[in-house]
Amino acid sequence: MITTIAVAGAGQMGSGVAQVAALSGFEVIVYDLKPEFCDKARERITGLLAKDVSKDRLSAGDRDAALARIRYTTSLSDLAAAGLVVEAIVENSEIKRKLFGDLDAICPPEAIFTSNTSSIPIIEMAIATKRPERFAGLHFFNPVPVMGLIELIRSIATSDETVADLKAIGERLGKTVVEAPDAAGFIVNRLLVPYLFDAIRLYEARAATREDIDNAMRLGCNHPMGPLTLSDFIGLDTLASIGEVLYGELFEPRFAPPPLLRRLVQAGRLGKKAGRGFYEYGK
Ligand code: NAD
Repeated sequence: MITTIAVAGAGQMGSGVAQVAALSGFEVIVYDLKPEFCDKARERITGLLAKDVSKDRLSAGDRDAALARIRYTTSLSDLAAAGLVVEAIVENSEIKRKLFGDLDAICPPEAIFTSNTSSIPIIEMAIATKRPERFAGLHFFNPVPVMGLIELIRSIATSDETVADLKAIGERLGKTVVEAPDAAGFIVNRLLVPYLFDAIRLYEARAATREDIDNAMRLGCNHPMGPLTLSDFIGLDTLASIGEVLYGELFEPRFAPPPLLRRLVQAGRLGKKAGRGFYEYGK
């Protein structure tokens, strides 16, 4: 029975997974490259749980217990204590494969490895380890504490037992688990990314203002946010990387990141996390 979950990468997604796992009773180890990245995650989780307490969605006692279950580290060897690793580092296959190779040498053979990748084939990362049968995709959605879905991606090497273990953990985390194919974009991004890119192209062509594009989809289709806002929330660097992977696999122009998206990324306007993307955000 898995009681400890390690989360590699303490960014938007990793901190969300850590928060949900701790609230669900798991011991959690959060790993990132620098102490300041861990501090930022701790602050984010503490702030979000404080908000839950102030809105009576969580008791102060449960908040304190959840916070006490999360440890932060910059030492990879600390992840050896986990039965499940959820990787949520930068969306780059080479960097992810290097991390999994290093983890494979550290973690016990029965530990399950998962990646939260949005677009990289699971088997490509699994073969960087000696445990491809205990390797799968566990794709959470942003913000993790709010979004109800996990895409569980089984590679051609993932065992039935691993799939069953991960389904059970996904349900303990309070999420609905759908099985998605190990094909670029899985289910959600395969459908979502071309839509977001079409909105960016529309804006780039000056066919409509950013506000009108977003309001049109919010009010015309009842989406909770418009496509340009959603792109900012995902992170424009992450979105561009996802598009590059999808395009590299499928060779369809609709998956190619639009030039404006590339320019914004080059300018460091990475969306909400950077304070600026299609829109400006306060600190
Ligand atoms: P982010 O930029 O907020 O966080 C990434 C974190 O990983 C940073 O803290 C960074 O310091 C850390 N990191 C980078 N290289 C590392 C390494 N070698 N070892 C340890 N830590 C390292 O990114 P994010 O939005 O949280 O995305 C993380 C992953 O989740 C990506 O694979 C992304 O595709 C995926 N994802 C993102 C979203 C989204 O909406 N943002 C949704 C689903 C999945």
